This record gives sequence, structure tokens and C-alpha cells, in this order.
Amino acid sequence: MERSANIAELRPSATIAVSTLAKKLKAEGRDILNLSAGEPDFDTPAWISEAAIQGIRDGRTRYTPASGMPELRKAIAGYLGGTFDREIDWQGIVVSSGAKQSLFNACFSLFGPGDEVLIGSPYWTSYPEMITLARATSVPVAGDEANGFRLTPADLDRVRTERTKGLVFSTPGNPTGSVYTRDELQAVAEWCRDHGVWMLVDEIYRDIYFSDETDRAASLLDLPESSVGDAVLIDGASKSFAMTGWRIGFALSSVDLAKNMTALQSHVSSNAATPSQMAALAAYTDRERTAASVAEMRVAFRRRRDLVTRLFDEKLPDFPYLTPDGAFYLFFRVDSAFEPGRETAQQLCSWLLETCGVAVVPGEAFGDPRYVRLSYATSDEVLEDAVDRLERTIGRSHPTPV
Ligand code: PMP
Ligand code: GLU
Repeated sequence: MERSANIAELRPSATIAVSTLAKKLKAEGRDILNLSAGEPDFDTPAWISEAAIQGIRDGRTRYTPASGMPELRKAIAGYLGGTFDREIDWQGIVVSSGAKQSLFNACFSLFGPGDEVLIGSPYWTSYPEMITLARATSVPVAGDEANGFRLTPADLDRVRTERTKGLVFSTPGNPTGSVYTRDELQAVAEWCRDHGVWMLVDEIYRDIYFSDETDRAASLLDLPESSVGDAVLIDGASKSFAMTGWRIGFALSSVDLAKNMTALQSHVSSNAATPSQMAALAAYTDRERTAASVAEMRVAFRRRRDLVTRLFDEKLPDFPYLTPDGAFYLFFRVDSAFEPGRETAQQLCSWLLETCGVAVVPGEAFGDPRYVRLSYATSDEVLEDAVDRLERTIGRSHPTPV
């Protein structure tokens, strides 16, 4: 029987597919270095996990309102309010099963047939799929490569049409590690405001930012309210608090849109898992303790960023990369290594996995087939070993199997 047109163009998530394959090969005994997974390798801070365990003991195991426990939404509003020193309406917050669901709720509630949605390219692999599921059309738009592909109003002017309804991008960026300055973000926000375009900013990596001046990347919430039109901020616990498996994300929007997204979610999944909400409640309530845990991870990610870029400079000088200012990905160009039989990033990545056991994600998944994404959320030893293996394969003009 034929399936619905809803999924006619749907492809599985490439990031998840590569990481699942790498894990499977490893379980079969193969010597695999998995640099595909986009998740912190740290455990969730114990005191956050304990809060969930205590919650279960206290019987917090039933449904909550679809939008999340009011005390969690208030805690998130308090957390954001404290971080940005401004008033946040907790009723604009909808808690979901991961930022992924928050993004889906927003895309599905805002976009539909006939709408064009701009996505900052290279983009996170799920954005175009979510937009297609809403039966809208995604339009990738890239800024200047030399400026980390960050978008400017001029880039957006080039692609805007009467049908442009939204713009979606992440900062710090997955897969680029590129981070918008406050001024860049403001310019894009004002462009969206002036053209009646919904702005969806995915700030899930906001705390994973490498700067001597500040410990977080610029946010929509740093901007004057007058600069921001209709907007949704996407955030969550997965990356900053090493909580990927708990599945807690949230969207901050107008109270009105929050109601629409809640209605959608109430029919799709109801509430995010209650024990996970209890863990998140602890994390968002105790800002000081959370800040200490986040700071520790930030230091480790920065050190690894420095390590991996130094190793690339030394051992893979023919492979230019975008210097990541945030998140935990190195996005590097591989088109100089293309040759017959390996003329796409996809083919090259399959060959690398087969030949030297290094699992990385091909740029096709992010809209730029000249590149490959490596996650450096792993140990120094694994990173050193991986770059050695890459050097012995693609690092030489005549690659030899390892
Ligand atoms: N946005 C970006 C840019 C991501 O990299 C991820 C990682 N999965 C998500 C959203 C989704 O996060 P979550 O695991 O909370 O669904
Ligand atoms: N966001 C991560 C990544 O880009 C996790 C996998 C996923 O959800 O796509 O690898």
C-alpha cells in the first residue's frame, strides 16, 4: 500500500544514522572512533540526576500539563530572567521532549503550504525536514564563508520573496561552530521585523561558547525589544547540562503562540517525561550550581577545540576548517581529497569509516557537500588517534590504508 505524501520526501536524520552505525560497528568489535555524535561525553551532573530519582520516589510519575509543570516553566523563566536581567513571562515557555520537538512545534505551528522558510546554511540537518513535514518549502541561504557563513541583511535580501514566512538558524551554529555577535544578531532580527518574517533562533549551544570576555554567546534576549518582531527562541537542557537522553527542550515565544504549540503537543506527545522535568527543575532552579557545572564542561570543550585545531594545523594542513567559537564541532573542507570513487563527502565518509574506522558526518547532511563535520565532544586520546588516522589516509596525496 502506498504511504502518505506527508513522508514522501522524508529522510532519516543523517547525524543519528552515522552515530548509530558507528555504535553498531563498535559493538561488533570493530576499532571505531565515533566523532559523529553531537552530544557531550560528560555524565549529567549527579545532583541533577538525583532530583529525578527523588521525584520518582515522591511519586512525581504522572502526567503534567502538556506545556510542562508550571514550576518548571517558572524556573526556566527565572533562569533566563536572571541570566539576561529582564522579565520573562513564564507562560510563553513550552517544555517539550527535547529542543527537537520544540523546533518541530514551532515550524508546524507557523509554516504551511505555499510558505518559504529561509534556513541559515550550513544548517542543522533536521531543519529542512521539519519544514517539509509542515509542507512548506525550505530555502537554504549561506552567508560569506570567510565570516563563518553568518547571515547579513544583504544575504537575506537576495533570497526573500513575497512568500518568505520565516528564518531558522542556530547560534552557536551546528555544524559550523560559528557564533553571531550581538550586532550581527540585531541586524538579522531587524531585517525579520521589517519584513514580517518569523525568526526562529536555536540557542541550544549558547553556553558552549569560547571567549575570554563572556561565558555565553549573544542571544535574542540580549537585543532591545524594539529590534525583535515575531520570534521564537529555542533552548534546552540537552547540551549545556549534558542531558541529551533526558529529552528536555523548550521554546520561548508570545503567550499566544505558546498556546498553539501546547495544543499541538497535547495531541502528539502530551508532556515531556515527568522525571526528566524534575531533573530540569533542579537544573534551572539552582543557577549557581548549574553555572559551575556548565563552566567545567565549557573549559573542557574549549581545551579540546584548541587541541583539535592545533592537530589539524600540524597534521592536516590541506584541510581548511572554520575556527569554532562555540558548540563542539569542527567543520572542515574535504573537497581537495575527492577522487574517482570518492567524489562526494558522503562517499569519502563511508570510505573513512571502512578504511580507518573514523566516523564523521558528511556535509551533505548540512547542505554543504564540500565539508565534513567532526564532533570533538570526546577525549583527547580519541581526538589524537582520529587525526593520526585521518593523516594516514586523506592526509597524504596517495592515501594508503591504515
Ligand atoms: N538544535 C540543534 C542545533 C542541535 O544540534 C540539536 C541536537 N540534537 C537540537 C536542536 C536538538 O536538541 P535535543 O536533543 O534537545 O532535541
Ligand atoms: N544534534 C546532534 C547532532 O547534530 C544529535 C543528533 C541529532 O539529534 O541530530 O549530531
